Amino acid sequence: MIITDTHTHLYSEAFDDDRAEMIKRALDEKVSRFFIPAIDSTYTESMFQLEKDFPEHVFLMMGLHPTHVKENYKEELNHVESMLGNRKFYAVGEIGIDLYWDKSTLEIQQEAFKHQIKLAKKYQLPIVIHCRDAFDEIFEVLEEEKGSDLFGIFHCFTGTLEQAHKALSYNMKLGIGGVVTFKNGKIDQFLSQIDLKHIVLETDAPYLAPVPFRGKRNESAYIIHVLEKLSNIYGVSLKEIASITTQNSQDIFGL
Ligand SMILES: [Zn+2]
Repeated sequence: MIITDTHTHLYSEAFDDDRAEMIKRALDEKVSRFFIPAIDSTYTESMFQLEKDFPEHVFLMMGLHPTHVKENYKEELNHVESMLGNRKFYAVGEIGIDLYWDKSTLEIQQEAFKHQIKLAKKYQLPIVIHCRDAFDEIFEVLEEEKGSDLFGIFHCFTGTLEQAHKALSYNMKLGIGGVVTFKNGKIDQFLSQIDLKHIVLETDAPYLAPVPFRGKRNESAYIIHVLEKLSNIYGVSLKEIASITTQNSQDIFGL
């Protein structure tokens, strides 16, 4: 069994004291493929170090996170652009729009999102979307940019069934993580109506730990609780969930 965590911030300071042990716990649970979203340039060096330490398991993305789109966003976008030109990354992410933390930056968030979608198309890479309180704004951009060269993952999908279908219509897979285990998470109510071929697994560690760890630091090993929940929802074995979602991740990332 191979389990793929399509979204995990293993380089986060939250793991500075026990990173190697934490990754070993995941490997022991057969979570052996980690896709690592970027945040901003201050994390690039630690992402490279992580890749050096776990070259067979760690696959990096490059991008500017919407909550980090600030006054210096042009410099940050230049960093993303030059990195993508320098070496292999597996996606442009995480990118998108977040109106929960700061509405005043909406305009530059939209600009940064569109710019990075163009970079993804240039390098034929998938995008990994971060969307918080911004479904309409995100769909507006996707509508403009849609096409066979636009594809990727709607990370930490928490919308309605209708929004799920809309995301799929733009060649997006749904990244499902800890929220599916929450009592008030809602997506567990309709997920069975979405074919498993559109689903990938993620933790978003160190954030959004699944039940029974809700509120605590999340880590990639806990993805097993997401797997168990999906196994209940779809009525198929853990092994089958792991195999289908890993195949889906290979289709997106090309590895
Ligand atoms: Zn994230």
